[in-house]
Amino acid sequence: MQTFLRNMMAVLFFGALSLGGTMMAPALLAALAGFAAVPNVALAAAPQHHDQVPGFYRLKVGDLEVTALYDGTGVFDPHWLNGTKATMDSVAKALQEDPHTLDIVDMGFLVNTGKQLILVDAGAGSWWGGAALGRLAGSLRSAGYTPEEVDIVLVTHLHSDHVGGLTTQDGKRVFPNADIYVGKAESDFWLSREIAAKAPKDAQPFFQSAQAIAAPYIKAGKWHTFSVPGHTPGHTGYEFSSKGQKILFWGDIVHAQRVQLQHPEVTAVFDTDQTAAAATRNQLLARLARENVLIATPHTSLFPALGRLHKEGSGYSWVPVVFTDQWNER
Ligand SMILES: [Zn+2]
Repeated sequence: MQTFLRNMMAVLFFGALSLGGTMMAPALLAALAGFAAVPNVALAAAPQHHDQVPGFYRLKVGDLEVTALYDGTGVFDPHWLNGTKATMDSVAKALQEDPHTLDIVDMGFLVNTGKQLILVDAGAGSWWGGAALGRLAGSLRSAGYTPEEVDIVLVTHLHSDHVGGLTTQDGKRVFPNADIYVGKAESDFWLSREIAAKAPKDAQPFFQSAQAIAAPYIKAGKWHTFSVPGHTPGHTGYEFSSKGQKILFWGDIVHAQRVQLQHPEVTAVFDTDQTAAAATRNQLLARLARENVLIATPHTSLFPALGRLHKEGSGYSWVPVVFTDQWNER
């Protein structure tokens, strides 16, 4: 069992924190491709349409414009979860009934503060998930922005489904003008050749991809690390607030929403420290449900991957932000 991803939660509060010398102060609409059923035209059959809506969704958080950016949809392997036999049996049963039960999306999120464009995680690019993932840059363009416009990328952690979109396979920066920020412990860990050399074989690709993805930014002087006092850094969540409203970009606190919200004690093989990961998840979910915090999650089965937690029995249920094609000023 590889135990390499840190699932500690060091939360940066952007309402109060300055980054890169600039205060993070403040900053919708989704395109809905229609049903094209036009009655009329004699009895000619309407052709089926096999395209979809562009993969983005915007909402307002105070003065911030937050855009969820779709990177792709993938299968989540139940063997990546460590639950009790009873829990895992029920997961297996659910999968028999519907093999797509654990399917999840991969997402990144763009925050337009009005002064800066800040991307939180960059999707997989061509480093993970094959052709199913790697659409984030396209979603960004559909949303009316270009990769060149992005000023800052905040990284929750260095697994390739979150940072692969930063760099092409031939080592070019996808966001040439962006400064990248990542927790120091996270950066030190994955970019260490010594730790990589000692890591189990199945963890090696994560080290190799992290190093290759970081390389062109390090070379350009655009790779920055930070420490968060009082927390165990590594895996990092980012909380933005504006005008009393908050949004938390929580990274991989939950991988398999349909299992881990009802059973927060179930860890994933990607959690570095299984005990700490479960404890962190327990505490954090309780607080988020209590405070009704808006959460942006990179992995969920519900686009646009924004929602809140409600306490339900011994676990939680996910209350999704419901899609609308209107820019909601509420
Ligand atoms: Zn992930």
